[in-house]
Amino acid sequence: MKVAVFSAKSYDRQSLESVNRDYGHELVYFSPNLEIETAKLAAGFTGICVFVNDTLDAETLRAIASKISGSKSENDIKLIALRCTGFNNVDLTVAKELGITVVRVPAYSPYAVAEHAVGLILTLNRKFHRAYARVREGNFSLDGLLGFDLHDRTVGIIGTGRIGMIAAQILHGFGCHILAYDKFPNPACEAIASYVSLFELFSKSDIISLHCPLTPETHHLINSEAIAQMKHGVMLINTSRGALIDTKAVIKALKSGKVGYLGLDVYEQEADLFFEDLSNTVIQDDVFQRLLTFPNVIITGHQAFFTEDALRNIAQTTLQNITDFENGNPCPNTVNLPS
Ligand code: NAD
Repeated sequence: MKVAVFSAKSYDRQSLESVNRDYGHELVYFSPNLEIETAKLAAGFTGICVFVNDTLDAETLRAIASKISGSKSENDIKLIALRCTGFNNVDLTVAKELGITVVRVPAYSPYAVAEHAVGLILTLNRKFHRAYARVREGNFSLDGLLGFDLHDRTVGIIGTGRIGMIAAQILHGFGCHILAYDKFPNPACEAIASYVSLFELFSKSDIISLHCPLTPETHHLINSEAIAQMKHGVMLINTSRGALIDTKAVIKALKSGKVGYLGLDVYEQEADLFFEDLSNTVIQDDVFQRLLTFPNVIITGHQAFFTEDALRNIAQTTLQNITDFENGNPCPNTVNLPS
């Protein structure tokens, strides 16, 4: 199938090309994100392949699906192949209305993301980032580097699907008590975690890690009311989706000390920032810039998925999804509208 690959980076091209030797699709790579302004690049393709910060709202979907009469090339996209797990950036209702099939990569390496979440916890706690810089400057003082044992601490995991379950297992291995909250509890998790209400999880956890999807229900799940229920000095970790957290409410809580540590791999407005080298530009997002001023905040730029294993699995599943669609085979990774 002829597929336009949007927001393509060198590593996407490398992993897709290497796996595509076995599939033989015609992949054309475009650096820009898909949005209404770039929708015309999809002309002449049957499928598009997109990532987390591509915009597939109603307007963009209508633009990529509609045939432009009189134009040399026509937009007639039939397949959206997400090379990620989350699909919150796709208007599924409009995609269905336009007859566009949406497929995704439900799991490529839950270990990659869970391990990154634990990495953020350890870094915030033991301050590796500060120790690294200090030692390189010959400063061996320990002032300001005091951490705490993870052993015996209580960790709240919100969303105990593939990633949350592995994060729970790793932290259970550290000797943490695991509290869990999920709309649909995972029986496999019950051996190591106690399912509790959100209120109990908020009020008893020393560390809270978010692993549920972004939906209208989970938007700003962590807001000022939720934070008010938490322990003073709580550590918050978000490797899921930025808008699970009301960033302004968290900034207020960081200033008061209510939130003692914040580790983010995702950010509400990350589409304007992440995956690009902006080191020579003036960043206009004042909320993001404020976050960077706190010594107890660590932000990584949506890199939790970024392991060799994950990229290989993403390429394999994406290309198989495209082949399934092309051959008219039922694709197990089709995203359906919630019933
Ligand atoms: P999953 O579908 O296996 O698990 C999600 C869990 O959240 C499920 O158990 C589900 O029941 C639960 N859930 C749904 N609605 C909920 C609600 N309202 N409250 C509490 N729990 C709820 O998904 P996964 O593979 O574990 O991925 C989790 C999230 O991680 C994805 O949605 C995605 O946004 C994010 N993610 C981030 C990266 C990254 O690089 N940072 C990479 C992959 C996935």
